[in-house]
Amino acid sequence: MHASFPVDVDLALVGGGGAASLVLAALDRHDVTGLRVAVVDPVHKRGQDRTWAFWGLPGDDLDPLLSASWSQVDVVTPAGRRVLPLDPLRYAMLRSAPVYDRAAEAERRLDAVRVGAPAGELHDDGERVTVRDPDGRDLVRAGWVLDSRPRRPSRPGRTSWLQHFRGWWLAADRPTFDPQRAVLMDFRTPQPRRGVSFGYVLPVDDRFALVEYTEFGPELLDDAG
Ligand SMILES: Cc1cc2nc3c(=O)[nH]c(=O)nc-3n(C[C@H](O)[C@H](O)[C@H](O)COP(=O)(O)OP(=O)(O)OC[C@H]3O[C@@H](n4cnc5c(N)ncnc54)[C@H](O)[C@@H]3O)c2cc1C
Repeated sequence: MHASFPVDVDLALVGGGGAASLVLAALDRHDVTGLRVAVVDPVHKRGQDRTWAFWGLPGDDLDPLLSASWSQVDVVTPAGRRVLPLDPLRYAMLRSAPVYDRAAEAERRLDAVRVGAPAGELHDDGERVTVRDPDGRDLVRAGWVLDSRPRRPSRPGRTSWLQHFRGWWLAADRPTFDPQRAVLMDFRTPQPRRGVSFGYVLPVDDRFALVEYTEFGPELLDDAG
């Protein structure tokens, strides 16, 4: 925790996860200097806690951090398999560890202040935004606040399903996977009574792949489920 509150900065990042890490990396990449930055998060994200996979055009700033990317995907159903080219897009895998490392490096260079406490309400007086803790104490005053705390949708959708997933990193003792092709998705899994399930395979080379089972449905599944 910083010694004297409230901390006065130009930019406060409330929530220091994936979104804030990318903002920090971008500030650093654009050689921003002299900007006073604070990151407010009770958790200091480090290491490998998740793997992001996403669509995009090749050649963006995240390219050097990617674990893998695929130019083709296999869609598999009980009726057969189709191999689909993705050009000009690609599907890519980004592990959290290099993203958090990159953000930590940016924080050091920007000399950002870490506030290791949960944020509560934000108060915007039109000039400055005050970030308070859950008991109403002022933590930070900032010109700009980017708030990336997770929040529930403001109103429920007509259909609300929960996503469950479980993944394994598989290592094969001989070439088994095609690193150019991801399996996205394989619907030959047993289908739930309500919802949908599928598997996918994301190879990072010909012997090593992330294999995941995903199930969407209205009920919360336990381990046995
Ligand atoms: C295992 C896993 C795999 C995923 N895979 C994908 C994927 O492939 N593609 C995809 O798009 N998404 C994926 N997601 C969803 C993922 O949550 C988001 O993509 C991404 O992490 C969102 O970034 P974020 O910054 O919004 O949230 P987060 O990275 O979750 O960051 C939110 C931050 O807010 C902090 N916070 C919470 N409450 C407070 C508070 N009161 N005060 C201050 N800070 C607070 C948390 O500690 C956290 O650090 C995955 C999630 C998980 C768990």
